[in-house]
Amino acid sequence: MVVLSGMRPTGRLHLGHYFGALQNWLKLQECNENKCYFMSADWHALTTDYSDTSKIDDNTLDMVADWLAVGLNPKKSIIFKQSCVPQHNELFLILSMLTPLGWLYRCPTYKDQIKEIKNKDLNNYGFLGYPILMSADILLYMTDIVPIGADQLPHLEFTRNIVKRFTHLYGKLFKTPKAKLTKEAKVLGLDGRKMSKSYENTILLTEDIDVLHSKINKIITDPLKIKQNDLGHPKQCVVFSFYQILNSEELLTIQNSCELGLRGCMTCKRNLMDKLVEFIKPLNNERKHLISDRKYLEGIIKMGCHEAINIANATMKKIHKVLKF
Ligand code: ADP
Repeated sequence: MVVLSGMRPTGRLHLGHYFGALQNWLKLQECNENKCYFMSADWHALTTDYSDTSKIDDNTLDMVADWLAVGLNPKKSIIFKQSCVPQHNELFLILSMLTPLGWLYRCPTYKDQIKEIKNKDLNNYGFLGYPILMSADILLYMTDIVPIGADQLPHLEFTRNIVKRFTHLYGKLFKTPKAKLTKEAKVLGLDGRKMSKSYENTILLTEDIDVLHSKINKIITDPLKIKQNDLGHPKQCVVFSFYQILNSEELLTIQNSCELGLRGCMTCKRNLMDKLVEFIKPLNNERKHLISDRKYLEGIIKMGCHEAINIANATMKKIHKVLKF
């Protein structure tokens, strides 16, 4: 199976990236029958960060260091940068020609982000066309499986529709890709909305331990539980949602004792802190070591780009043929 996924190099990775997508990347790379492509989606980063591009390249190295720290292996997976493979743009252009504008304006992610993100001017063609570029990324490698978080599902549906339209117009060339979600397909942030860089509600995968302390302390738990012996509603509590993603073995005990008023929010926060430190500390150490060797990271990306370009070239030749160019 061909596997492809990407992330925008717009800052350090957070728990949403790991528990929403990276966990599946790691599982999929361990299957020998899979050919896995993981890309730094730097053209996609431009859709929201076009006015300041100065950090995109550094962010790519930061992100690749995070990927390797959690276990992505350049010997098993092709790790590359989207902007090194110009064929993404060529296919983006071709797909743009056959995509009805209504599909883009109706895309739920477009409508949500225009409503939610107020600190950036998103009134540009690139932002509207994001799902077409994502379709080009996926189809260029004849991808079967796309491991993503639930928020990206509309984009995958979009790609599947583009495949149908392409097939109808020019004949069968592309496979219809499928999404692969993790158990926690939507990881909540500190404020209870989806964890996202854009909402400034994240816990970084390699968070500094002091910062982690202060972030956990500030979380607002169940608003109906003021005293320890008030009956709690863990399913509506952000702290409990973190226990869920960490798959804590005491999950049921914690849920029951909170609901019965036998456990206070401070205890919950202290235990969560311990669990997160246990998870984050080794990643922190690994990342520090990796980020100090920029040449090594750049070498991995260069090698991945070389492989990706070869495959992308072969696909473009097939596309030219069906388009009779
Ligand atoms: P962001 O929303 O922080 O800008 P990206 O758009 O770069 O993140 O997302 C990269 C990948 O990580 C996508 O597959 C996305 O679905 C997944 N992802 C990001 N945040 C979350 C989250 N809170 N829960 C689940 N998956 C997430």
